[in-house]
Amino acid sequence: MYIISILGNYFTEVILFSVVMMLRLLYFRIGILLLVWMALTGFDYRVANLEMMERIPTSLEEHNWQKSSVDYNVIEVGTHDYTYWKNFMKRTRTCHISHRIKTVVYYCDIHNHTKSETSLEEIIHSERHRLE
Ligand SMILES: [Zn+2]
Ligand SMILES: [Zn+2]
Repeated sequence: MYIISILGNYFTEVILFSVVMMLRLLYFRIGILLLVWMALTGFDYRVANLEMMERIPTSLEEHNWQKSSVDYNVIEVGTHDYTYWKNFMKRTRTCHISHRIKTVVYYCDIHNHTKSETSLEEIIHSERHRLE
């Protein structure tokens, strides 16, 4: 009976662990989708937050956009397997892929608002391997 209960605990832990991992993956994917959407639409939450305070310019008005900050973020986007040969044997390894993202924030002192530009700077592979 004791062994069965230990096994039971073990399986519960395994199931809990896989559920947590699945949720983490899901949140991660939602995060990526949000980031891509923000990059595509040029959405700036800082502008959204400041909208109540600033004067909304008409489309004819000129802006005085000045670079105020440059920020780099590295986010892991996934993994992939690659094969290589060692001692006449074909082996497989997992490589983690990350994106280096550059965010430039501009500030316009005429209307007291900001805008940001997000761009993909670099795709980083954790392992050194030939790219197929
Ligand atoms: Zn402006
Ligand atoms: Zn790789």
